[in-house]
Amino acid sequence: MNENQSALIQLVDKIEQLGQFQDKIEFPASNKQIWDVFLEDVQALIELEGCALFMVDDNHEFSLTHAMPESLGPVCQKEIESQIEYGIFPWIVRRRQPALIPAFAFDHDQSVVMLPLATAKRTLGMVMVLTPLQKSLVTQENLRLLSVLARQCSLVMENSLLYDRLRRKNDSLEKANKQIRYLSQRDALTGCYNRGHMNEYLPREIRRAIRYRRALSLALCDLDHFKTINDTHGHQCGDRILREFVKSVNELIRTDSDWLARYGGEEFLLVLPETSLQNAYRLAERLRTQIARTGFECQGEKLTVTASFGLTGFSAETAPEILQAEALLNRADKLLYQAKKEGRNRVVSGPFAS
Ligand code: GH3
Ligand code: MG
Ligand code: MG
Repeated sequence: MNENQSALIQLVDKIEQLGQFQDKIEFPASNKQIWDVFLEDVQALIELEGCALFMVDDNHEFSLTHAMPESLGPVCQKEIESQIEYGIFPWIVRRRQPALIPAFAFDHDQSVVMLPLATAKRTLGMVMVLTPLQKSLVTQENLRLLSVLARQCSLVMENSLLYDRLRRKNDSLEKANKQIRYLSQRDALTGCYNRGHMNEYLPREIRRAIRYRRALSLALCDLDHFKTINDTHGHQCGDRILREFVKSVNELIRTDSDWLARYGGEEFLLVLPETSLQNAYRLAERLRTQIARTGFECQGEKLTVTASFGLTGFSAETAPEILQAEALLNRADKLLYQAKKEGRNRVVSGPFAS
């Protein structure tokens, strides 16, 4: 093999190596990770004394991001400043080609290779390569190889930026979706679950209780003479009482399993999974007395409000094979009606019988 042939093979090897730049980066990659791989490849191409990376920042200025060795950072910064002063720097940026330039800030034995990092769309940054080689020893071939490397590096950085941007967009979309989902399940006035949530989750709750042979209780709860409160103290006062009512119920129930939904107007549904009718009755009684005892403040006045409850449920033994939510709700509604008829401010409870 003659000298030319072996030089050619060496060149092909180097180009092949440069082609593997992307494969050495695992996404998502930070600029530091990309920079480390880049440094390794630069070192394989050219004798190196130091290297610094300047990235275009949010203010569209080149700011020092990494330097190797670190102590070289300020020197490179000074070099860039003098390049800007002499008008060389903008010329390199515009040209988007590696430039071998006389070093102003360094001693004149060294050479500086400026490598713009750019894609077809934009300039990402600039690499400054310091080599102990005299200007005459930095070959055109090396410059071209460095240019290939800079292009590879730019593409990887651009991809990484896009990846990062996409991920952030995705994260904020996910957040927005969660928020939408949350809001779509909530009652705007009181913050408790709404009818939509109830329609979706009550049948699930019933199916689960039947399948796993667990008790399930539920109570329909209606504020007493609420129309009078509105008529006497105003709608805003009524709204406030509804909010306060939900707050006090939430303070008494186990919110990790029990849940409250606004059934409509001043009527709420309380769902108590894994709760026997007996225990549910105790809880409903506690709620009822707590509400009757609470003074709801309205325009400087303390108002009392009472509530009536229609409570029903089934246990493992009495659970039917299938049960529609409507049937359970109808039973609770009848019991609530009875509570109203019997004088309000009371809990009327009865097991569900299919
Ligand atoms: P009862 O003891 O029989 O339940 O009597 P009531 O007055 O509570 O029942 P009625 O169904 O006659 O009236 C319900 C009232 O609840 C009328 C309505 O204005 C009021 N209401 C329903 N939703 C809201 C709301 O979002 N805000 C306010 N302030 N009032 C509401
Ligand atoms: Mg009412
Ligand atoms: Mg009502």
